[in-house]
Amino acid sequence: MQFRDLNRQYKELKTQIDEGIQEVIDSAAFISGKQVEELEKKLAEYVGVKHCVTCANGTDALSMALMAWNIKEGECVFVPDFTFFASGEVVAFEGATPIFVDVDENTYNMDPKKLDEAVRKVLAEGKLIPRVIIAVDLFGLPADYDAIRLVADKYGLKILEDGAQGFGGELNGRKACSFGDISTTSFFPAKPLGCYGDGGAVFTDDDEVDAYLRSIRVHGKGTHKYDNLRIGWNSRLDTIQAAVLLPKLQAFIEYERDAVNRIAARYTELLKDIVVTPNFDAKYVSSWAQYCIQLKSERERDELQEYLRQQGIPTMIYYPKPMHLQAAFSGTGTVLGDCCITERLCKTVLALPMHPYLEENEIESVANCVNHFCKMNPSTGTNFS
Ligand SMILES: *Cc1c(COP(=O)(O)O)cnc(C)c1O
Repeated sequence: MQFRDLNRQYKELKTQIDEGIQEVIDSAAFISGKQVEELEKKLAEYVGVKHCVTCANGTDALSMALMAWNIKEGECVFVPDFTFFASGEVVAFEGATPIFVDVDENTYNMDPKKLDEAVRKVLAEGKLIPRVIIAVDLFGLPADYDAIRLVADKYGLKILEDGAQGFGGELNGRKACSFGDISTTSFFPAKPLGCYGDGGAVFTDDDEVDAYLRSIRVHGKGTHKYDNLRIGWNSRLDTIQAAVLLPKLQAFIEYERDAVNRIAARYTELLKDIVVTPNFDAKYVSSWAQYCIQLKSERERDELQEYLRQQGIPTMIYYPKPMHLQAAFSGTGTVLGDCCITERLCKTVLALPMHPYLEENEIESVANCVNHFCKMNPSTGTNFS
């Protein structure tokens, strides 16, 4: 069994993907080919925003958004403590200070109450200027934008939606990557919509930001590539990656997102009385970048992981370390409240195999093994007995 079986997906879409790649090779338009523009139009339409600007990866997408707002030293950006490193890295890269905020134990996303407290503490200290909230749609679930938008409006902050894992999620019938003043995603192969290398995109309704992004992704170009208005960089999505993404987006829209939701519901049905399973309000739809369960302790989690490994079931720990404890942030990153939920989650979460082509017998086999382990170790899991 594979954790995320990209080969099964390729077998399903082989003809279209192979033809798409061949077409790019035949045209020799490897950079900025027509497939890139076609993909940007389709992505913007699916997400429900005015502009989509593709780029080289999800980290560049976040950096380009911060550059568009001219985020700099002396300013701070609020980032969840429980996320992939890049969400905070980009802030420090621009010379600004990431302030790490604890998350909700059910949704794994930024806790809006603790966010409000953190903003108030920064203002009271008077050393840093609060500018942006980076809300992450962790594991495929949109952050609580109803509450986060209220905090942003209250203090005049921008929202940057890090939808690297969130593409395809929904809140109140609206699609992920449409909730930020600027939103981003990643097409890293293992993300909900992945390509065959690195790739990313930025989404916005703001015409000025759109024009700025299209300039900085090609060396700050003006009317053409050799007319340079500003210092930019080189961050484009290769045409071959766009050609891979076009049929994959189609499959994602037609059935893959529904498939992962069916698989997640099946996991939950089989596991909910044994361990802590994902639990969120019906106003959300997840795109299930990960399906995570929670165990009672680090020891039990690690023992279950080892037991599953022996049974041929791969699992992952997302994430083993809170952002505020990463060595890279010592001296730059700050926490202004406690992050006890994140600290606990880092010790107790376990991500199970998850992808749209997982079959019923595989789901049952994973659930049976978890069940067997918990029966042998009665103190494990939810201990409902
Ligand atoms: C993957 C990821 C990124 C970075 O995307 P890349 O395409 O790998 O640069 C940023 N934020 C989160 C939450 C991610 O999961």
